Amino acid sequence: MKYFLDIYKGVKTLINGFRVTHKYFINARKEIITVQYPEEKVQIFDRFKGEVIMPHDEKNEHACTGCQACEIACPNGTIEIIWNRIVDAETGKKKKVIDKHIYHLSMCTMCSQCIEACPTDAIVWGQGFEHSVTDRSELTKVLNKPGSKVRASVKE
Ligand code: SF4
Ligand code: SF4
Repeated sequence: MKYFLDIYKGVKTLINGFRVTHKYFINARKEIITVQYPEEKVQIFDRFKGEVIMPHDEKNEHACTGCQACEIACPNGTIEIIWNRIVDAETGKKKKVIDKHIYHLSMCTMCSQCIEACPTDAIVWGQGFEHSVTDRSELTKVLNKPGSKVRASVKE
């Protein structure tokens, strides 16, 4: 008797499973977000944290003063700021300028602390996600572009 009861329970469970699958297949097709990547584009949401980036404008200027607040805020040393002092042509005073804003993507936990700490909003979340490389060193990036400088309107 137990043998037939087990068969009955098994068939009933199977039918229940098929019922759920069928219901999803018929009713939820519009909500399916699976895509045939990389042939199809993946939809990226605004809040997605892909990597820390430093936006530059059309004049190749950014908002980074080299204050190091992001470097200090980062809990695991993902950011290194290499800076210099130059003499400001307008004021004649010495001024801190950024040389390299180095970001080790392979170490980043996407915690946002650097972005929140930045007083000039010089760094933001970028949505790039295709980070696979064969050489780990390629995940170390310099966020300020070659030849770029801090925007004159940005206050230290
Ligand atoms: S997101 Fe977090 S771990 Fe990544 S660089 Fe910023 S502070 Fe460091
Ligand atoms: S990115 Fe922001 S916090 Fe980091 S050094 Fe530049 S200005 Fe300072």
